[in-house]
Amino acid sequence: MSKGSGRILSILAIGLIFLLCIGSGVLIGVISAALKSMPALEDFEYRPIEATRIYDVNNKLISRLYIENRVWVPLSEIPKELQDAVIAVEDWKFRDHHGVDFMGIIRAALVDIREGKIVQGGSTITQQLAKNAFLTHERTWTRKLQELLYAIQLERTYTKDQILELYLNEVYFFPGQAVYGVEAASQGYFGKSVRYLNLPESALLGGILRNAYIYSPTQHPESAKTRRSVVLKRMALLGYISEDEAQSAMEAPLGVIEPRPSKQIAPYFVDYIRDYLVSKYGHETVYKGGLKVYTTLDLRLQNLANQILLSNLPDGGKDSKGLTQPQAAMVVLDTREGYIRAMVGGRGEDEFNRAVMSYRQPGSAFKPFVYTAALQAGYTPATILDDSPVEYVIPGQAEPWAPVNNDKKFRGPVTARQALEDSINVPSVKLLDQIGTSNAIKMAKSLGITSLVESGRLNDMNLSLVLGGLTRGVTPLEMATAYAVFANQGIKAEPVAILRVEDANGNVLERNTPKRQVALDEQTAYVVTDMLRGVITRGTGKSANIGRPAAGKTGTTTEYTNAWFVGFTPELVTCIWIGNDVQQKPMIYGGTRIGSGKAAAIWGAYMKEALKDMPVSEFPVPSGVVFSKICTESGMLAGESCPNTTTEVFVEGTEPRQLCYLHTRIQEVDVCAESGQLAGRYCPPDQVERRRYLASNGLRILHDGTIAQGQSIPRVTCQVHTWWTTDSHSARSQESLEPEDSSFSYEDNPN
Ligand SMILES: [Zn+2]
Ligand SMILES: [Zn+2]
Repeated sequence: MSKGSGRILSILAIGLIFLLCIGSGVLIGVISAALKSMPALEDFEYRPIEATRIYDVNNKLISRLYIENRVWVPLSEIPKELQDAVIAVEDWKFRDHHGVDFMGIIRAALVDIREGKIVQGGSTITQQLAKNAFLTHERTWTRKLQELLYAIQLERTYTKDQILELYLNEVYFFPGQAVYGVEAASQGYFGKSVRYLNLPESALLGGILRNAYIYSPTQHPESAKTRRSVVLKRMALLGYISEDEAQSAMEAPLGVIEPRPSKQIAPYFVDYIRDYLVSKYGHETVYKGGLKVYTTLDLRLQNLANQILLSNLPDGGKDSKGLTQPQAAMVVLDTREGYIRAMVGGRGEDEFNRAVMSYRQPGSAFKPFVYTAALQAGYTPATILDDSPVEYVIPGQAEPWAPVNNDKKFRGPVTARQALEDSINVPSVKLLDQIGTSNAIKMAKSLGITSLVESGRLNDMNLSLVLGGLTRGVTPLEMATAYAVFANQGIKAEPVAILRVEDANGNVLERNTPKRQVALDEQTAYVVTDMLRGVITRGTGKSANIGRPAAGKTGTTTEYTNAWFVGFTPELVTCIWIGNDVQQKPMIYGGTRIGSGKAAAIWGAYMKEALKDMPVSEFPVPSGVVFSKICTESGMLAGESCPNTTTEVFVEGTEPRQLCYLHTRIQEVDVCAESGQLAGRYCPPDQVERRRYLASNGLRILHDGTIAQGQSIPRVTCQVHTWWTTDSHSARSQESLEPEDSSFSYEDNPN
């Protein structure tokens, strides 16, 4: 070894020692910090278990969260094969280590460092027990360290068999249903006690506990089977069983029974708040801590939702997971406070809550957001849009895009109201093109649509936005939240599910008040509401007519893959979605196509019942809104001769001021500006103006098309400029005192 390399080595050695000193200092610091925030060791004792109770808005019990039928089984009654299966896949060195597998931790730590966060478990059975039983499931370094320290303590206090017994009785098998321990799991999956499990059943149960969602034998039998094979192979590898035993066990059927139907009233809502509670208060507190959770749910409205939604859905048979299709979701919100009054996340009680987790194409139910943005940009319900063929060149696409209407017809000029009420696509696309997609997206976001995609290769910054062709889609809860803004005079209320949480001693842990903010001016909100009322009274949502003030919008996507109705009264906003879990599967059953008409009919049936005891209330008309009689063909102020007129609502200042030019008879008269009288032949030409008057009442129409009240058509010829007042009178004859007929002309312009 050369002198130089010796020097390098000693520098390296000094450096290493230095690093170790710093490292151990840091380690001591971290350990002492972890120790300080650790619960006391006395907490190792099992505390009395008390269920958490969930109440509705009238303090009626909805559900209890507790550890269902946990039956403690001593290790001696747990089959050896199950014990071996768990050890084989979870912690094969369990019998040898002292609670912590340091090599495993180093391996896991390397992965964690590479990923920049804690991803790998590297946990022994003892550590998992420590974590499940005593700590929350946060993934932080402090928690990880506490888990190690607890694990070492556990190993010093208990024997290996005691630890395994605790673990198997504590382990969390059914995350959704709060069932703990091997006995409860065995009863749940196989309908028999854990004592009677055979090898394939033991291997299945041992494999599931890593992830009860992914490996669920009832919901994902294929992955459960694969997992069981992994367990069996590993058991054979470790010598617990022979290769032959493993092979024949792999071929055995799963043998699981149908999951027991529970009699939950609001399973998806309970899941929804349970997930929140667990993330905030930890698993232990929620399942054993005896919390009282007061929610916004109204059991009457919830029961009604279950009953009306589920009894009106078509039966498309069961899918491969045993779930009836098509699926559906429903959200009912109090419009003022955003309180969730009812939530149905599907037809069964599965883990997938379609009311909040399912992102689907909204179709035309998205249109109101675009029309709202247009109203804010100065458009009105009376604005004339052009329903005629159009093509848009799409960058990167060979063919231009030519949007079509559902009935494949073009109507020519239509009012914005008609385009929205009848859900006409082409003028809606043109409207979006005029106001710009970024304005529409901005509006949708401020109303509460959070899932829009604004950048990236696939995004929502294009004209198909108005037809609800979204990159990601929207959830029923998002749609209900956004529509509630219209019903709530422009105020957006965040959805609230929990009013108050109390601990077992009645101390208030949290209290929620409505989170409200202005998202839209109340005038625009009113005008949109009024247009959406027309959808129900005249347009595509007639099946949702409930005989009281209500507004809403339909949405059906291509090939009947999604059917929506989102609607509201002054009291409640309700969103209904129907669709297959397989997104592209059309809903055509026995020749019947399921579209938004079905959703609208269910909405109507529900709202009628839900509101039957509430007095009928009107949408309040805010100040700053005006009503004008307009011509529906021109969108302008109605004249006497307009064939089709209607009283339209406007944000003050946007109402039309010009008289319908299509149907109004106008009289044009030459007037002397100086006298305001009929121009005579002696008026100087630069004083003579051609003025326009309404034929019906003789009022003057100004240049901007507005009517000048008090300026009537003159009847007398100018008395300022006469033959005797002009210098040139000698050139004129006295006969010309009469007005000239030629100065009158009728402009009759029917269309
Ligand atoms: Zn007209
Ligand atoms: Zn004159």
